[in-house]
Amino acid sequence: MRRVYMDHTAGMPVDERVLEAMMPYFTQSYGNPSSIHYFGNAARRAIDEARTKISELIGTEKREEIIFTSGGTESNNVAIKGVAYRNKDKGDHIITSSIEHMSVMNTCKHLSKEGFKVANLPVDKYGIVDIEALKKKITNKTVLVSIMHANGELGTIEPIKEIGEIAHSKGAFLHVDAVAAAGQIPIDVQDENIDLLSLSSNDMYGPRGVGVLYIKAGTRTIPTLHGGGQERGLRSGTENLPGIVGMGKAAEIAQAEMTTESERLLNLRDKLIKGALDRIPESYLNGHPTKRLPNNVNVRFSYIEGESLILSLDMEGIACSSGSACTSKTLESSHVLLAVGLKHEEAHGSLLFTLGKQNADEDVKYVLGLLPGIVKRLRTISPLTPKDLVT
Ligand code: PMP
Repeated sequence: MRRVYMDHTAGMPVDERVLEAMMPYFTQSYGNPSSIHYFGNAARRAIDEARTKISELIGTEKREEIIFTSGGTESNNVAIKGVAYRNKDKGDHIITSSIEHMSVMNTCKHLSKEGFKVANLPVDKYGIVDIEALKKKITNKTVLVSIMHANGELGTIEPIKEIGEIAHSKGAFLHVDAVAAAGQIPIDVQDENIDLLSLSSNDMYGPRGVGVLYIKAGTRTIPTLHGGGQERGLRSGTENLPGIVGMGKAAEIAQAEMTTESERLLNLRDKLIKGALDRIPESYLNGHPTKRLPNNVNVRFSYIEGESLILSLDMEGIACSSGSACTSKTLESSHVLLAVGLKHEEAHGSLLFTLGKQNADEDVKYVLGLLPGIVKRLRTISPLTPKDLVT
């Protein structure tokens, strides 16, 4: 059976070139970077090289500002908790948005149980953070503003530079979850006023279980893991050498190929969006039409359940998501879709296609050839569908 994978936010294949770069670090160059002998030196050099590649991808010249972690979740936890705990003398106020990833949302929720005050900024119907609300909520007691670079579910890209200016005007640090954006759109931590930035390797065709936290020099933070003092004391634990090398290679490839690959994906994205909206009555785009990640297609169809759509598409070999890609096993409506003002039934009728390197024109044609018929069939058996829509 033909298989079309369009669920890249949930998981990406590791690029063959990344795998090739990693292999020697399992069986040949396996030293501990803390050791001072030949093997240790080789490991340390490999890690520093990966650090340089990541720093180049996000626009800093200081590679020591890059800390390797176990992934996006850990980076978000360390960033938010570290700044919150270290800056208690300044204040106890954190600002975030209502469309953040669970690893940001639940970290903030945890801190609010510890006594921190957390403000969740609303977003507009496209998912763009309400800047006026930010200006109103921020005070001299705000220690951290945490807003994602782009939302992986809606595809919407946030005005990070402006958010950073506002955060800094009150002496607050800006943390940005760039897991969904990295490798898709350019990121420049210096130009965009970013103090802390989270990345996850697998979202850039690197191996799972590796991530990065960028911490700008001078940012007041403390470690949340204690141990041997690796990663400048900010993230103890023996470094995941092959994983780090893989993430470095993934960043190098992303930087070299992003412009052409994003243009190619954007073209496929727009064909899929337009094709679905043109062919299927009562279908709508979720997220911003243009301030949008090049790999993201999120559409909703009235009168049907996204879950039954996913299963029907799966029977035709097409893989995609509904709701939040990371937790789509739960049948709760996605908090992101509710935050942009959708009703529960609208959120449930939404489908998320995230495109990737292997997808080509034929895949989009294949999906568009099947999707309208599947939607029609499901609407026919739904008691909610108006008669004239299916006859
Ligand atoms: N932030 C965003 C926006 C994500 O999509 C994800 C999931 N890929 C994470 C954070 C968590 O990353 P990880 O799975 O590497 O912990």
